[in-house]
Amino acid sequence: MTNDRVSVGGVDVATGHFINGERVGSATTFEDRSPLDWNVKLAEVARGGALEAEIAVTAAVNAFPAWAALTTQERQVYLHRLAGLIDANIERIATVECLDMAMLLESLRLRVIGRGARNFRAYADLAVAYEPRRWDSNGTHNSVLRMPAGPTVVITPWNAPFMLSTWKCAPALAAGNTVVLKPAEWSPLSCSLLMDLVDEAGFPPGVFNMVQGLGEEVGAALVSDPRVRRISFTGSPETGRLIGVAAAKNLVPFTAELGGKGPFVVFADADLDLAAEKAALMYDDAGQICLAGTRLLVEASCRDAFLQKLTDAANRHVLGDSRDPKTTVSPMIHPEHLKRVEGFVERSVASGDTLVYGGHKLKNDGLWYLPTLIEPRSNDAEIVQHEVFGPVLTMQTFNTEAEAINLANSTPYGLSAMVFTSDQGKANRFGEGVRAGTIWVNCFLVRDLTAPFGGAGISGIGREGGDYALDFYSEVKTYQVKEDTTHG
Ligand code: NAD
Repeated sequence: MTNDRVSVGGVDVATGHFINGERVGSATTFEDRSPLDWNVKLAEVARGGALEAEIAVTAAVNAFPAWAALTTQERQVYLHRLAGLIDANIERIATVECLDMAMLLESLRLRVIGRGARNFRAYADLAVAYEPRRWDSNGTHNSVLRMPAGPTVVITPWNAPFMLSTWKCAPALAAGNTVVLKPAEWSPLSCSLLMDLVDEAGFPPGVFNMVQGLGEEVGAALVSDPRVRRISFTGSPETGRLIGVAAAKNLVPFTAELGGKGPFVVFADADLDLAAEKAALMYDDAGQICLAGTRLLVEASCRDAFLQKLTDAANRHVLGDSRDPKTTVSPMIHPEHLKRVEGFVERSVASGDTLVYGGHKLKNDGLWYLPTLIEPRSNDAEIVQHEVFGPVLTMQTFNTEAEAINLANSTPYGLSAMVFTSDQGKANRFGEGVRAGTIWVNCFLVRDLTAPFGGAGISGIGREGGDYALDFYSEVKTYQVKEDTTHG
């Protein structure tokens, strides 16, 4: 057992794992630095490996029968208590996540962390409200039953780590599964605060565990443990493939919410001010948003007018410290990631694409990259076909609806799509024709937690959200009773 804790922005944070209701250390640690100032080391965090994965899964296996035997109403009490504690700790969690990941503090305080609490409430309530489908056919009464699936591994990325972890752990727990969460090594601290709240909420030991460490070490060990019955992953397509292989070896169902390269389509009949304002939002959080519409597809007749409005909106962005309410563009998460983004833009410009604005990092020793717009020479350009995951947009033009839909569907991704038009018929035809998990018409990032969420193509496998998630985290059974079966 270890009680190693550090102060991060005045908030006390444990640096160990949380296994079987206790803080546990490791023989080695990894370093966690702040993107707001890379010279600042926030913590040395426990570096789990095969051993920690083994004991965490054992804890989840041992806790599973009793947790699964509770009613959905009994589990709801725990999940609601945890939601209340998250709400009461929003300021502390936001402070830590801002220092650790550099998302804008105002967004974290007002929107993102509170969504964590809503995730727990929404799934607890949905599990209780479940009305099994019942029907008669072929001389039998039929119904659909859900049964908890078993110990579940949840692996999450470094962007919005608290919210994205709760998004997956909440339905897994509500469905009656026990959980081992592994947050990303570039922003591990806010999930550690979540574990303090799990402890305070009185969850039985082993029901909700967390291990810290590197993906290729503890992450790989977790997903290959044959005792795990569900794997839920959010991250890059490259890692998604590795996790799919591990899941296939043990025949374990998994969901993967992966990268995006969303088309952002602007028809000439759209409210161009609204479209430009929403397009400029793609630079928020340094563009590190999977759902972002990073491929602007603009009807040729409004290209100049739209570009002027977008440039004005981009110029209004303020790069700075994410804790300052005036800041709208935060630094990138990590020097390695900044280098990756720089590489994409350098190769794009060298290959003949047109740089419209931006195109380099801020001239200081920080991790800020300027909002950037590129007009590619062709749709095959690397910058069009690959997720950059930075403040970099491309812009292409089209002349017909069919061309817009073809371009929208012309990458291997399919996470999100946005269309701006005043013509509902045009929007509907686009909605039907585009291959994406979520399509927004004249809006962006509006989410209903009961709606399915996931990606097509290399943007993901499976759907979470609402009953889709609860079905995934359950064994769904068909129960058939011969009609004249007597009671007795
Ligand atoms: P990543 O794939 O590098 O890492 C994600 C997680 O997987 C981390 O916790 C990492 O430690 C772990 N991991 C790495 N290798 C592993 C392995 N071999 N076995 C098990 N676990 C392993 O992704 P990232 O860089 O942290 O996140 C950025 C990516 O996530 C982008 O592609 C982004 O679009 C995507 N993303 C998608 C969504 C969505 O909802 N679709 C949301 C947020 C981010």
